[in-house]
Amino acid sequence: MNDLEQRLHYPLGDALPENGRCIEVAPGIKWIRMALPFALNHINLWLLRDEMDGVAGWSVVDTCIHRDEAKAQWGEIFAHELAGLPILRVIATHMHPDHIGLAHWLCDRWNAPLWISGLDYQVARLACLAPTSFGGARTAAFFAQHGLNDAETQSKLLNRRDYFTTLVPSVPDDYHRLLDGQTLRIGAHTWRCISGYGHAPEHMALYCEGLNVLIAGDMMLPRISTNVSVYESEPEADALALFLGSIDKFRPLPESTLVLPAHGKPFTGLHERIQQLHDHHRAHLDKVRQACRQQACSAADIIPVLFTRAMDFHQTTFALGEAVAHLHALWYAGQLQRTRGADGVLRFAATPG
Ligand SMILES: [Zn+2]
Repeated sequence: MNDLEQRLHYPLGDALPENGRCIEVAPGIKWIRMALPFALNHINLWLLRDEMDGVAGWSVVDTCIHRDEAKAQWGEIFAHELAGLPILRVIATHMHPDHIGLAHWLCDRWNAPLWISGLDYQVARLACLAPTSFGGARTAAFFAQHGLNDAETQSKLLNRRDYFTTLVPSVPDDYHRLLDGQTLRIGAHTWRCISGYGHAPEHMALYCEGLNVLIAGDMMLPRISTNVSVYESEPEADALALFLGSIDKFRPLPESTLVLPAHGKPFTGLHERIQQLHDHHRAHLDKVRQACRQQACSAADIIPVLFTRAMDFHQTTFALGEAVAHLHALWYAGQLQRTRGADGVLRFAATPG
């Protein structure tokens, strides 16, 4: 546990749900943890006691990626953790594969509707239809203009044609739209949607005042910082400003709020964690500003400034997006200026004066 993490509190200690089993973290809220075959090796999902149209059952929040191991684990959950009741709806905090990958399968299996923000639903649906989503020529060109133009990376990007659809083969044909500020009745409790930007198109966290619980999705994680990236679909986004503005929306919640993150353990210390994330990004921005004072830097030049660990291809793609996000934050703030070199690469240098 690092220094910063020690300032948070984990009310459940080191307890983790076993494969195919749950831990009840608050009345009527069960924690599921599923393995992921990535550097980020797990995701937390939640079961909420619910009732719809007079039928008792459960709502699921997030689903894991589409793969046999996750389906098998869901089978165990169905057999042992639902008390014989059905799943009544599937809620996705956002459209990233680890969150929405099995929504189609759960919705089909239980004849349950999907609840998600409008933007994330549409982006997920388009990504399922587009054969080159998150790969192909446009992605390769975006990475090249940010300096990741070596032959090996470019070839991997060009050939990454089925990244999204392997993990998310489809999404349901219709959905219930979650809007910022909207309240949902889930079982005996009222939950409020809190939108967040900079990580996904329109992430929805859920807060229940009665239970003092925040289902934070990826917008508030205890140990790692949320990936904040610029993607080729919105190449000039100011993603970091959007993200920092979004986490400030959690400040009015009580410090005692039990935060249920999508990765890591349930924790309290919300205000401390919000401040830690601001400090983390401010330190990163200082490093980027420093580097761009020495010489004009592309986003690829900034990756080793922000990340000292060795990274695989998958992590490098996230790191590039994160580097662009930090450069853009300073560029939009007027602290950097941008030029395109004869090689087509965008470079950022400190604004004179
Ligand atoms: Zn995510």
